[in-house]
Amino acid sequence: MKEIRKVLLIHPEISRTKYNFAGVIDNEPLELEYIAALLREQGVDYAIWDGQVERISAAEKLKAYMPDLVYVCGRTRQERFMLEYCQAAKDLCGSVTVIGGLHAQQCYARMYQNCVDYILVSFDIFQLIQLIQGTPSEQLEDMCWRTEGDWHTATPKPFDIQRLPLPDRSYFLTHTDRYRYLELLPCAHVRTAYCCPYRCSFCSRNKLNCGVYTCRDIQDVVEEIARIPCENIYLVDDDFLVDEKRIRQFINLIRERQICKRYVCYGRADFIVRYPELMQQLKEIGFYYILTGLEALDDQHMTAYNKKCDMDCNTKAVEILHNVGIHMMGMFIADLDFTGKDFRSMYRWIKAHKLRHAAVSIFTPELDSPLYQQYADRILTEDPGDWDYLHVVAQPGRLSLRAYYFHYHVLLIRLFLRGWRDGIYDFVDYGYYIRSFVKNMFRFGG
Ligand code: SF4
Repeated sequence: MKEIRKVLLIHPEISRTKYNFAGVIDNEPLELEYIAALLREQGVDYAIWDGQVERISAAEKLKAYMPDLVYVCGRTRQERFMLEYCQAAKDLCGSVTVIGGLHAQQCYARMYQNCVDYILVSFDIFQLIQLIQGTPSEQLEDMCWRTEGDWHTATPKPFDIQRLPLPDRSYFLTHTDRYRYLELLPCAHVRTAYCCPYRCSFCSRNKLNCGVYTCRDIQDVVEEIARIPCENIYLVDDDFLVDEKRIRQFINLIRERQICKRYVCYGRADFIVRYPELMQQLKEIGFYYILTGLEALDDQHMTAYNKKCDMDCNTKAVEILHNVGIHMMGMFIADLDFTGKDFRSMYRWIKAHKLRHAAVSIFTPELDSPLYQQYADRILTEDPGDWDYLHVVAQPGRLSLRAYYFHYHVLLIRLFLRGWRDGIYDFVDYGYYIRSFVKNMFRFGG
């Protein structure tokens, strides 16, 4: 392999249509910043190009920077862009190309393409550094690699998150006008764990890192937070509220260090209900949003999803956060067996429980997952761009596709109008969103 002196790290745009949450939630490219930190340590020249925020195209960046190696990450919905950027890197610069990230870890065989040289199938970014240092392909344990058109498949291993370096946030700090979580702008990401110890049936997060939950020493986490020059922190673990003792330690350390910031995290309803007094303390140290998977409207669906939580628990969790003054972002699933009545009931439940923030995803069997096999004869699309939880990818059970989309968009419009009345989305152009919701109501499935 040629000598690697310059590396371009690419995070593709979320989508090329306006049907996404750009300008509402824009995520710091944390994964690339960990790699950037390792490259800096090694004295390798690097640059980041994030399609969410860049004003020049990836092709322009490639031509100007001429990298020896290009690393591209992304999720399922970005698959086409990831491959396109690898092809462009080959055509314009003759670069070595590496694909990594969440989608590659779970669906690496989909990346077996001529424009791709290596696929990182785990969180072990040190493998990339070894590759850059010239380690022979056959010694790279967590990399699939190509030789003369044949692919050598790697078996991923769990990664110990304690090995991660502190991210190099220089890219984030030069784009603080862009990275946000709703009104929290700028909002820096901090990761304290990989994977999730729960096994909800619809979720693919618990399969990451070979299904092994791994978390950082909480003292290191607080040290990192203290050093970030940003007052909003999004703890991006799939579930931050896992271990009561660890959370108590976190609260104590934040208090001791007198760190004053606002926090966003994911947390399950059963944890909130089990420790209401901890929620009060989290509020006091600055917890602002807790993103909670409420998922359904009845215990039948909760059981089918293996959520290990019931509707009574959901109701109590909403009340507890409401009483302590933390905003709950209630996350729901529009099941494929929904009727028009179910969509209307979902709106009524959200309203009756005074939940100001709610997000509804369409039930989506992830590509190459056991759930996908279960729905194989109902899959409607082969476009990975549709795997954004806003598109119907499998035939609904009780409504036509057109009727399903119609009711889904009516629900979104009703929730959005409610948010408008409450002023919770005042940072967006309301007119633009209403117009696009209405347009989609009639366009999809037609
Ligand atoms: S608790 Fe959340 S992250 Fe964990 S498996 Fe369930 S849905 Fe996935």
